[in-house]
Amino acid sequence: MAGEPQADCLFCKIVAGEVPATVVREDEHTVAFRDINPQAPTHVLVVPKAHYPNAAALAADPGLSAALLAAAGEVATQEKIDESGYRIVFNTGAGAGQTVFHVHAHVLGGRGLQWPPG
Ligand code: 5GP
Repeated sequence: MAGEPQADCLFCKIVAGEVPATVVREDEHTVAFRDINPQAPTHVLVVPKAHYPNAAALAADPGLSAALLAAAGEVATQEKIDESGYRIVFNTGAGAGQTVFHVHAHVLGGRGLQWPPG
């Protein structure tokens, strides 16, 4: 069923506390934790607690989609990258670099960010 935890999902395990992570923010619907391989001085992943494989699938739940974006914005404020500028990225599909198929917003900042991204 949509949103149910998946036994083989790394981020479901982080949400459940079965895999350790440096959690920087948590609320009823989302968890934010530092990326294990940061690509910028601030690199936080924000995930819904419910399992959806990617951003397109998450769109089936507009309320949760909004909660995830709001959490990403609050992380940026908390990390003090909101004034300098930051990027929210959803890699969607292996061809775009998605490696973990539990939707996650990358919140990146703390350095200049190039456009277009690689
Ligand atoms: P994707 O490539 O799917 O867009 O992003 C997955 C992200 O998860 C990568 O940036 C990767 O560094 C991060 N990651 C992979 N395994 C772990 C882990 O065990 N813990 C944490 N905190 N991040 C992870």
